[in-house]
Amino acid sequence: MKTIMKTFLRPKKSLYFLYLLCFVFCAGKSTRASSGVDSQLMQAQANVATFPEGADKTLPQVKKFQSADITLYAWSQDFARGHALLLELETDNRLNDLQLVVNDKKLPLSLGQGCRYAFYANAPNSTRRENIVRVLRGANLAADFKLPVVLKAYPVARSKLNVQNFSNKSKPMTKETIKFIEEGVKKKQKAFVSANESYLGQEMRYPRDAHKITSPFFIKRIYERFKVVKGKKKSLPGKTSYHGGTDLKAPVGAPIFAIADGVVNLAELLYYEGNIVMIDHGNGVISGYMHQSELIAKQGERVKAGQQIGKAGATGMVTGPHLHIFMLIHGVKIDPLSFIILPVRPAR
Ligand SMILES: [Zn+2]
Repeated sequence: MKTIMKTFLRPKKSLYFLYLLCFVFCAGKSTRASSGVDSQLMQAQANVATFPEGADKTLPQVKKFQSADITLYAWSQDFARGHALLLELETDNRLNDLQLVVNDKKLPLSLGQGCRYAFYANAPNSTRRENIVRVLRGANLAADFKLPVVLKAYPVARSKLNVQNFSNKSKPMTKETIKFIEEGVKKKQKAFVSANESYLGQEMRYPRDAHKITSPFFIKRIYERFKVVKGKKKSLPGKTSYHGGTDLKAPVGAPIFAIADGVVNLAELLYYEGNIVMIDHGNGVISGYMHQSELIAKQGERVKAGQQIGKAGATGMVTGPHLHIFMLIHGVKIDPLSFIILPVRPAR
């Protein structure tokens, strides 16, 4: 099937005001689709303008694909592995009949302004160079597109991570601790279930009021493990892991904000995570905020982007106070900071 792909240039900061002016004066003459892209870039700009100083305020890229009567807009920070994608479908012909399948996985579609949209996660450890995007009408293939994936390299930590008591393997865990961990795993599993409908509004917010990444997403780290034998520390082989979220600097008590609208589906103290809040944003999108000193949001509560959900702390398995924020899209972990720049335009 023949497809046309067009990549829009991401406007440079200095050109952005010119771009906005052009939008203001040309909007009446634009087609529906291109004015949608313009207004979405303005929306992304308005969202990142609220981010704290030093945070990445680069606007997302958008690629346009066209086949017959179907248009696909794919949005991402840079289409890299480990990053989130917003996929929007437009057609003048029976929009509600469309189904979206990416790499053989059917994605739930939500109603947007003149489109239906879904989210997809480029898995951070994938070696896939392109995503196969198929659009179906009933059982029939209506369009198919190939969406390139950038094979981003993730960093490796230079030093081992000592997580104090959690690194000390001298004493076996008590039955109570094992039970507490197992119950926590079950609670988390339940909280990983996302509603098919989308709870999202247009607003995206930064999870902190200050920005400093102390440990980036998917950095390869080795946890130190040791035993104390006759008063002497004896090293055990370290445990390798890939950082499943982003650590942001945060003193104890610093505010933590919901990054987007959603429903709190977990607000509890767990063993490794400490005080944790998980928010279901619907349509397969979940965010989590760990190690809090105090939980403010309650399970089942509906929260808005930018609403304070808790206070930063050092509960659970940590080396010191910080916010560990993680995100899953359809069960795949992605860099949470790649999600909050996406310009979602849900139906009002
Ligand atoms: Zn972390």
